[in-house]
Amino acid sequence: MYNKNTNQSHRFGKRPSGKRTSFNTNRGGARNFNRPRGNNKRSQFNDISKFINKALPMAEIIPYTPTNSFADFAIDECLKQTILKSGYSHPTPIQDQAIPQVLNGRDIVGIANTGTGKTAAFVIPLLDKVARDKRQNILILAPTRELAIQINQELIKFSQGMRIFSVCTVGGMPIYRQIKDLQRTHNFVIGTPGRIKDLINRGKLNINKFETIVLDESDRMLDMGFVNDMRFLMSAMPKKHQTLFFSATLSDDIKKIINDFLNDPIHISVRTTDTAESIDQDVVYAQKDTKFNLLHNLLIQPEFNKVLIFGQTKIGVEKLSGLLSQKGIKVKSIHGNKNHTQRQQALKSFKDNDVNVLVATDVAARGIDIPNVTHVINYELPSCYEDYIHRIGRTGRGGNAGKALTFVCHETTKVSATNNNRRKRNWRR
Ligand code: ADP
Ligand code: MG
Repeated sequence: MYNKNTNQSHRFGKRPSGKRTSFNTNRGGARNFNRPRGNNKRSQFNDISKFINKALPMAEIIPYTPTNSFADFAIDECLKQTILKSGYSHPTPIQDQAIPQVLNGRDIVGIANTGTGKTAAFVIPLLDKVARDKRQNILILAPTRELAIQINQELIKFSQGMRIFSVCTVGGMPIYRQIKDLQRTHNFVIGTPGRIKDLINRGKLNINKFETIVLDESDRMLDMGFVNDMRFLMSAMPKKHQTLFFSATLSDDIKKIINDFLNDPIHISVRTTDTAESIDQDVVYAQKDTKFNLLHNLLIQPEFNKVLIFGQTKIGVEKLSGLLSQKGIKVKSIHGNKNHTQRQQALKSFKDNDVNVLVATDVAARGIDIPNVTHVINYELPSCYEDYIHRIGRTGRGGNAGKALTFVCHETTKVSATNNNRRKRNWRR
């Protein structure tokens, strides 16, 4: 059940002058989630108090009473039937509050906890927008290939029978096939910034045609790594366009620049706590030399059914996965050193329960929706609190309970994380 949350909708902001900048050509197509930050030493967020949080017992969570029902939304009838068939009985808080505003054509900043249905909060009203006007072109951007593919799958699921088509353009897959796909009828393009940029530079994608843009995981999309690309993209769009931002987190730094991109937006925040209340969070104290055995002892407990383990580096993640495999654990790994097929296979094996442990870098921290992940383990600390929120948000999704454990070493921990640390990280991304 979803929580009853605050219902704050307020307006702020104005469209910026929208100066055109060119794409940042120094950066390659793929986003490096493992870039060391400063002196080759990765900054770590180590405020232990933030890693401990008892989940509310499910029985104590007050169910959210939506103002709308899917049946009542003024949306395309075929779409409505598909939603009802998909098993969504009522809108989640973010869907309840965002869908009517998106239908009204407003710019939106939608903030809601991880796993509370933000995807459908933009996919449903945008499918309706296209159903009403087949000339509409919609661009959806996500920070990782896996997330873009997942959003595309969600779109395909809800567009059944509507004859509305999408093209998914992500790195690591043959660009020529995507160029061919772009020549077919479509209203949606879903992709990662690197590949979109590539397609624009090759003259295969005309950014002028998009009258709607969605940035999923918008704070990530506006951080230092992507922000110039986003400025370029949005300034090249038609003057009148609809912009939708969705995320579970919005740091103060990002809040400061968000108005540059939006036109009189509605700000919808249905988040009461930083982390989803359905996630039980605790720490595991460990020394360097005992850490691996402790992890292994946890993983062989019967309740550790489906476990996502986060490490900081690609090499570290690969090594840990190998060591666990040697110990007889069914494990796969996902990180930026693997090719697209290997990454997809690892995710699929984990989703299908062929392996019950997936070791990952932060490439899997944002947006990925894998049903029934019982535990998220931070074997190595995240770089900042936002990363922590997203990592643990891979469990406790869709109204289910989940557990998060964070390994902390006695010698490296201190109970005061400084804002300084966070600021540093934001500028180095
Ligand atoms: P978020 O983007 O907020 O992290 P997702 O959009 O990935 O969350 O949705 C999380 C899960 O909740 C998905 O498995 C999705 O199918 C499910 N879900 C979304 N909306 C509803 C709903 N109205 N009723 C039931 N399940 C839902
Ligand atoms: Mg999401």
